[in-house]
Amino acid sequence: MISKAAGIATLLVAAATSAGAQEQVLNLYSARHYPTDEALYGNFTKATGIKINRVDADDAGILARLKAEGAASPADVILLVDAARLYKGEVDGLFRPIKSKVLEDAIPAQYRSASSAEGTTWFGFSTRARVIVYDKAKVKREDVDTYEELADPKNKGKVCLRSGSHPYNLSLFGAVTEHLGEQKAEAWLKGIVDNMARAPKGGDTDQIKAVGSGECQVAVSNSYYVARLMRSEAAADKALMEKVGVVFPNQSSWGTHVNIAGGAVAKNSKNTANAIKFLEYLSSPEAQNHFANGNNEWPTARGVKVNNPALTALGGGDFKAETIPLAKVGANQVKVQQMLDRVGFK
Ligand code: FE
Repeated sequence: MISKAAGIATLLVAAATSAGAQEQVLNLYSARHYPTDEALYGNFTKATGIKINRVDADDAGILARLKAEGAASPADVILLVDAARLYKGEVDGLFRPIKSKVLEDAIPAQYRSASSAEGTTWFGFSTRARVIVYDKAKVKREDVDTYEELADPKNKGKVCLRSGSHPYNLSLFGAVTEHLGEQKAEAWLKGIVDNMARAPKGGDTDQIKAVGSGECQVAVSNSYYVARLMRSEAAADKALMEKVGVVFPNQSSWGTHVNIAGGAVAKNSKNTANAIKFLEYLSSPEAQNHFANGNNEWPTARGVKVNNPALTALGGGDFKAETIPLAKVGANQVKVQQMLDRVGFK
């Protein structure tokens, strides 16, 4: 009997030890592609002793990987850079709802998923505006101060955009569909295709540079790419930003489209406590400063101030942002992709 009890005790100790060892790891699947996040992850490990194993991929790649891995997935925390993809992950049941008073106190309701009895599924940790940039010498600001005008014949042959199927554009188009209705939104997309200076290619920064080089005169970009160029010390970037004007569209109507980057706990996480601890860390003032300001985004946590000269120059947080629920933007994705196919928007 004694030896049996001892055996059980040994097993319990072994189980506790292995659980203890597991607690020192966090498997992070991240779509964030910003070098300024590195210091932040290092600080988390320093403060908690929890080692972060990171897998980098884009939003769609991460969601596909989670699906393929299923219950065997080692993922604990998922970071995505688009509201519609966060919504998709939620709808597809890839995330685990969590209860955290720290997160609920820090992150306002508009920047997180709807809560159920089980908890909240994802939290937004930073926001970014989808702005219009233009050639100040060739284009009048008032001709490009709404998204609608991207499709106006007055801008024929002037517009550059990255692929319509990229999440940043899918979410913008999903928002526009919500504001204008499906029929008008499709006509708008067709108008943009008719106005393109070239077939869609490259990322947001490439569109801004194409305005600088004269290949096009109007483009669309996430705000942090603009801010990054504004803060750059490189002579070429300085010259570029002298030429380029920036506008927060639709200030006298429904407001500028704003997207979020955020995180969730993976459905099959084996280190849930660490995962929650990491997300709570991201909502702390110190981390929000790195996470959002470091990449020239706006922090979502209550009471966190932006101290970023480029964002202040861009308009700070001082612009009218659209207020439609992010879930509606997500729900429009399939519709938008079908519209893009119909109008030949690559
Ligand atoms: Fe990006």
